[in-house]
Amino acid sequence: MTTIRVENLTKIFKKGKTEVKAVDNISIQIESGMSFGVLGPSGHGKTTFLRLIAGLEEPTSGYIYFDNDVVSSPRRVVMSPEKRGIAMVFQNWALYPNMTVFDNIAFPLKLAKVPKDKIESKVKEVAEELGLSGALNRYPKEISGGQMQRTAIARALVKDPKVLLLDEPFSNLDAQIRESARALVRKIQRERKLTTLIVSHDPADIFAIANKTGVIVHGKFAQIGSPTEVYEYPATDLIARLTGEINLLQAKVMENTAILGNLKIPLNNVELKGMSNIVIGIRPDDLTLSDTLLDKYVDAGIVKVKLVSYGGGIFKIVVSPAADENIDIIVDAEEPLETGIETHLLIKVGKMKIFDQNGNNLLT
Ligand code: ATP
Repeated sequence: MTTIRVENLTKIFKKGKTEVKAVDNISIQIESGMSFGVLGPSGHGKTTFLRLIAGLEEPTSGYIYFDNDVVSSPRRVVMSPEKRGIAMVFQNWALYPNMTVFDNIAFPLKLAKVPKDKIESKVKEVAEELGLSGALNRYPKEISGGQMQRTAIARALVKDPKVLLLDEPFSNLDAQIRESARALVRKIQRERKLTTLIVSHDPADIFAIANKTGVIVHGKFAQIGSPTEVYEYPATDLIARLTGEINLLQAKVMENTAILGNLKIPLNNVELKGMSNIVIGIRPDDLTLSDTLLDKYVDAGIVKVKLVSYGGGIFKIVVSPAADENIDIIVDAEEPLETGIETHLLIKVGKMKIFDQNGNNLLT
């Protein structure tokens, strides 16, 4: 398998007279067999980074190595995408509509002039792996979205790649298929020990597949860590938002307590360095609403239920501090509550994040 090493990689696009630094001096190593996920805001360089690794873009400066081979160097694609042993799966499955599932999967082998009997056995083997054996004679319009996606994955795998590159691979799928598609890609990645790079704006895609996650902001990795690290200990408030739903609440500091309207949240063991304003980050599933104090929760005070909606499996409850209806806090709950009622907002111990006014996490 292949270790990917990137050294001081920069890509600048020229748009008329202006220059866009899409990738800004990135150095990183993705170990053989690892899956690395890239999250980031729109337009911050995720796709460009992936296309550079694929060899579809040449770097402005810097180097890319596959094991010990230089595959890209300044203004040069040294090794073509075809020679890199990569498979790519994009958002648009781009199946050939006039070809059967069999012919779609076989296409890369035909291009490579692989003998017919070998093509036949290889396509059947991959189709079996992906549960497509029964659909080989059908055309793309005759199969489901999930089968189309599996066909695209089969086509990517048919040449036994060493590296798998996925760009927003699940965004065109509906929620139900997306779950099983993530599980399938994860299984294939682990079984085949494919060095994998997945780019997505959806943290659930990344967390399902990646052992390691990097968050790209303005063309640079703002944080790299395990999915749990970037989710639980986001370095900034922006990363906190990119990695999942979160309440980011402006609070005043009085002694060692954060004040939001009538809510008072103890700030134990935080070095606040005289700050009088902070931003508190709490994920909706780290909050609960209850009239009684629960074990492993801290009571923040009384809130009023403003809005209740069903979020599929859970209820999304919007509450406000009883004394300040302008502050909205989202709480995940298993049961709905009536709007207008007052109850206590409880925060799970150890789950609160605290950011300074520049958005830097004070707890990491
Ligand atoms: P999204 O999530 O919206 O796909 P992204 O994080 O993948 O965004 P990129 O597509 O890598 O971002 O784009 C990074 C920046 O580079 C953007 O400002 C984009 O407009 C610019 N860019 C990308 N490709 C080109 C190109 N071929 N020519 C000029 N500018 C480009």
